[in-house]
Amino acid sequence: MNISFSSFYNSFPFLIFAVFMEGKKPIVMSGIRPTGFLHLGNYFGAIRNYVRMQDEFECFFMVADLHSLTTHPDTRHLKANVHRVLAENIACGLDPEKAALYCQSHVYETSELYLYLNMLAYKGELEKTATFKDKVRLQPENVNAGLLTYPVLQAADIILHRASLVPVGKDQEQHLEMARNFVNRFNHRYGDVFPEPQAFNYSEQLVKVPSLDGTGKMSKSENQMATLYLADTDDMIRKKVMKAKTDMGPSEPNSEKPDYIENLFLLMKLVSGNDVINKFENDYKNCHIRYGDMKKQLAEDMVNFISPIRGRVEDILGDEIYLKQVMEVGAEKARKSAKATMLLVRESMGLKYF
Ligand code: AMP
Repeated sequence: MNISFSSFYNSFPFLIFAVFMEGKKPIVMSGIRPTGFLHLGNYFGAIRNYVRMQDEFECFFMVADLHSLTTHPDTRHLKANVHRVLAENIACGLDPEKAALYCQSHVYETSELYLYLNMLAYKGELEKTATFKDKVRLQPENVNAGLLTYPVLQAADIILHRASLVPVGKDQEQHLEMARNFVNRFNHRYGDVFPEPQAFNYSEQLVKVPSLDGTGKMSKSENQMATLYLADTDDMIRKKVMKAKTDMGPSEPNSEKPDYIENLFLLMKLVSGNDVINKFENDYKNCHIRYGDMKKQLAEDMVNFISPIRGRVEDILGDEIYLKQVMEVGAEKARKSAKATMLLVRESMGLKYF
């Protein structure tokens, strides 16, 4: 089946309906790079969706260790980072018995599909990708071909399972558009093999969790004092939130919020109750807001949200045998699905000579 829509958000209920009508659960795929501690952006952009989707769809979630090599060629900490990402996913509620939770490098078929897709991806479009341009700026000494073809590998990861839904944050929108282009080129040239993958979030829009200083998004490796990590101690969370930028407050009722204040409210909406949010919204509207109080409340709500996850992560990390089992079972499920897709791919491409 190959469904194409101009707007995902308008068409999503139909997409789900169409796939369910075929008697199959829609297939979901997503991944997270093991390049550091997971943060609230990873949680609200990706993992929160994974946890809900595992009950409704057939899910494949991976630790994207091959992707991490494009920016982190030193592999000394890779094992610890892979274990941490697995543990953090599980601590957030991902159940390895419901979803396939695996390591990208354990599924060799990915590399084969990546090779074929590379013949359908063009240098010009890859060079124009926003994330490529960012990475060139950040690591001018290591502009490797893997960095350039990152969206091709990502497309291979997704379509290896013939996935149609990809829970990701807003930063991945362009990559998903590129994945759809590669899929359409493949299907046009070799026959209808892949569905068009669509970025997904349960809320109306893809999420971008802003950094606490209002200058960008929360990130694993950049701007660490303005990012809240799932591993941060309670004191560190309080320290980071209390340092968030504010001002003297609005001087006229119903004023528009500056970006950095809007961001604080956005963060509050992720972790605080409605009463709390309404109180501070009203205080802002009426020019009574006390940002010190708001940040104290936000810090405590963040602590209540993050600290139970942090505790579970430490327990899971202590059990290496369990983590090994998770990776083995996940890889087996992922390989089974990958092998079936690659049979179709080779056959449709005419790579079958006897
Ligand atoms: P990465 O950390 O780049 O491996 O991304 C893993 C997942 O987290 C992807 O789905 C990203 O879109 C998502 N993500 C990363 N940072 C943010 C952020 N600040 N806000 C929302 N989603 C994010």
